[in-house]
Amino acid sequence: MLGLMQNWQLTVDRILQHAAEWHADREIVTRSVEGPIVRTTYGQVHERARRLSNALLAFGVKPGDRVATLAWNSGRHVEAWYAAMGIGAVCHTLNPRLFAEQLCYIINHAEDRIIFTDLTFLPVLLANRDKMPTVETFVVMTDAEHMAGIDFPGALCFETLIEQHSSDVVWGGFDENTACGLCYTSGTTGNPKGVLYSHRSNFLHTLTTLQSDVMGLSAQDVILPVVPMFHANAWGIAFSAPAVGAKLVMPGAKMDGASIHELLETEGVTFSAAVPTVWQMLQQHLEATNGKLTTLKRVVIGGSAAPEAIVRAFRDNYGVDVTHAWGMTETSPLGTQSTPNAAVAALPYEQQLPYRLKQGRAPLGVQLKLTNDADEVLPKDGKTFGRLKISGPFIVREYFRGDGGAILDAEGFFDTGDVSTIDEHGFMQITDRSKDVIKSGGEWISSIEIENIAAGHPKSALAAVIGVHHPKWDERPLLLVKLKAGQTATREEYLAFLEGKIAKWWTPDDVVFVDDIPLGATGKIDKKVIRQQFEHYVLPTAQAAE
Ligand code: AMP
Repeated sequence: MLGLMQNWQLTVDRILQHAAEWHADREIVTRSVEGPIVRTTYGQVHERARRLSNALLAFGVKPGDRVATLAWNSGRHVEAWYAAMGIGAVCHTLNPRLFAEQLCYIINHAEDRIIFTDLTFLPVLLANRDKMPTVETFVVMTDAEHMAGIDFPGALCFETLIEQHSSDVVWGGFDENTACGLCYTSGTTGNPKGVLYSHRSNFLHTLTTLQSDVMGLSAQDVILPVVPMFHANAWGIAFSAPAVGAKLVMPGAKMDGASIHELLETEGVTFSAAVPTVWQMLQQHLEATNGKLTTLKRVVIGGSAAPEAIVRAFRDNYGVDVTHAWGMTETSPLGTQSTPNAAVAALPYEQQLPYRLKQGRAPLGVQLKLTNDADEVLPKDGKTFGRLKISGPFIVREYFRGDGGAILDAEGFFDTGDVSTIDEHGFMQITDRSKDVIKSGGEWISSIEIENIAAGHPKSALAAVIGVHHPKWDERPLLLVKLKAGQTATREEYLAFLEGKIAKWWTPDDVVFVDDIPLGATGKIDKKVIRQQFEHYVLPTAQAAE
């Protein structure tokens, strides 16, 4: 027997429609690429997005066609998203931080027909115009005045299109499983792969992130997403802010400490979200200028591990509550958040901290499990670590065009490629990426844990740990240290520093001092390159074993 409730399809156009109806005057404030601060409202954004939908229809855009954006966080970017999604087209967010070659690969793989671009990215698009044959139209997200000085054959002006079209358009009315957004993974191994979100998955992800144990946003909030709309949908904020009628503050291209601080203060921001480096930059700026945070209450850190020093500094010096979140492009992206449960909240802050520094708990809508290489489920004891697998209605089922083949296990879980523990309170903690974990005598050693401790040595600038071939144990850890300028150190000094802080059998078999440790495009240590550099490295213990 079926239920008798209304069959209301969960399509994201309803989100902006809701904001326009109930929060029409709530502002979206943007530090524009052209320079000035621009103010608009949900009412205006809704009207303009609908006009833009008509422009897309006039270009011949059909449901399922890919409409790309290459843009910073801005009010216009929000308009372009909803314009495409509202008529059933797929909004493909391009990451401008990628190399031109990768950008072209992604545009061609997606077969983008239209690219909305900020002024910033015209040079890269122009230089590679002939390498993106599927693209018919470029729309520059600016006004006629700034369009005048542009030399880009055939490019159209965003504001002119909005002027030229009416807002009389039909949004939604299609199946909630219709594709809605496309975002490619960063592709650290092989080519980037496309994650194709549906209206339903984005709608459900929005409801999940709004839970008070997750982002807990409200109509009273003023939200500054520093996390870009092109990186996993700005963690859903371009949906969740209008969903509750929160004011949105968009930083545009300027994400340095001073610019972010200025917006936080002048716009009365209460909530923000960003990767750790952004908070580090803000903290340095605040320290250097004796700055204050008078309205900011809550911050979410994710994308890579939240450093303890940041969590402490924001709480102790500025009264800001920091929660740690984990997720990936494939998980829409929010998978876990480290808000305390009742048992943890009852602890004194110092005892809460170890939990707050973990990646967090699964909200409703997310299922997690840990497995070993034989696919056996491991206990949630906070000690045993294994492959982190995830399932839920906003978790990837298959990559775009079937890339990578079948990606779910027999129970329908996706292997995140992360290695983690889950403790008795349900807090998940990442201990490694599965390709970086060191497999020694059938047991796993966390490279991240050793390098975090080694990085804390006062002489270290940076530390990295990789597994190196060993004839007896298969792999053993090798510690690489980049010393601070002018420092010297010995292997023994570092091994003594690690003693007692890690299990004895985790002790690296060797320590190598290097001039540099390679970093990837997202600022993380590039272990792939290090592994290539040390492919033929012979450990002193390996010689002894032979
Ligand atoms: P991306 O799809 O580019 O967002 O990258 C996702 C990956 O970033 C995850 O699989 C993790 O390895 C890493 N990551 C995301 N959030 C965190 C976090 N809070 N702590 C540690 N690693 C994280």
